[in-house]
Amino acid sequence: MKIKPDDFRITPGSKVNLAKLPTAAEQNISKQDGHEALRPMIKRLRELQEVLYAQGKHKVLVVFQAMDAGGKDSTIRNVIGPLNPQGVRVTSFKAPTPEELSRDYLWRIHRETPGKGMMRVFNRSHYEDVLIVRVKELVPRKVWSKRYEQINQFERLLYDEGTTIVKFFLHISKDYQKQRLQRRLDRPDKHWKFNPDDLAERARWNDYQVAFEDAISQCSPRHAPWYVVPAEHRPFRNLLVAQTLIDTLESLDMKYPEPTFDPAKITID
Ligand code: ATP
Ligand code: MG
Repeated sequence: MKIKPDDFRITPGSKVNLAKLPTAAEQNISKQDGHEALRPMIKRLRELQEVLYAQGKHKVLVVFQAMDAGGKDSTIRNVIGPLNPQGVRVTSFKAPTPEELSRDYLWRIHRETPGKGMMRVFNRSHYEDVLIVRVKELVPRKVWSKRYEQINQFERLLYDEGTTIVKFFLHISKDYQKQRLQRRLDRPDKHWKFNPDDLAERARWNDYQVAFEDAISQCSPRHAPWYVVPAEHRPFRNLLVAQTLIDTLESLDMKYPEPTFDPAKITID
């Protein structure tokens, strides 16, 4: 199956209507087939990440957002997990601590952005500050409404200073979320993932969809695009995320650094 990430990329200026975008791939693939298709892609991704690290020139920021039980953890485990941990770091952004709350909302984000040669992966991100913060009115409208522009400027700064940004919204339906939350109740080994507070968020499903639509519509410049990933068929979801990262890294045209010595002239006794 040929996966075309461009079909899922939000183009700058478009007004996103999530209800019209698929939550499941048209063509389902079996777990087994998905696994087999993913293997060579992971191999390619590992090669690209090694050059990223070796060259030490580019910085890569990957953002994951989703409704609860949308599959962020599992996508990160499947696609990012196999990479070399020396060059990749995952950060999960939870509710801010008092110290974080006493700063501006980008303070805790900026310090986790990638340095040269690194890939940094955000499990939730600064977008929470226009999602849960907006939906639950944790700050007044006049404060959060300015944040879309601030986020665009922040991401522009990162881009101008050499960071490649790619953002994934794992798109699921409300019914699917119910199934996944129920699974957390049914399986004792998943109880730890269940948070009764998630039900209060679920009750605001529509508000969240609107908040996501605004965030994705308003913050999708060419240099920091959102991909809306149909996330209910998990093998397809993993393949799409992997292919998007491969395409993004390949577009950087990276090279191993030239040696500062002539290997032919060195003899090891
Ligand atoms: P899982 O999917 O495994 O449940 P999670 O990412 O939901 O993982 P939790 O500890 O369950 O992790 O939830 C983190 C919570 O922190 C989420 O409800 C999220 O919306 C909230 N949060 C993240 N950033 C902010 C923020 N800036 N302001 C307020 N709440 C935030
Ligand atoms: Mg949670």
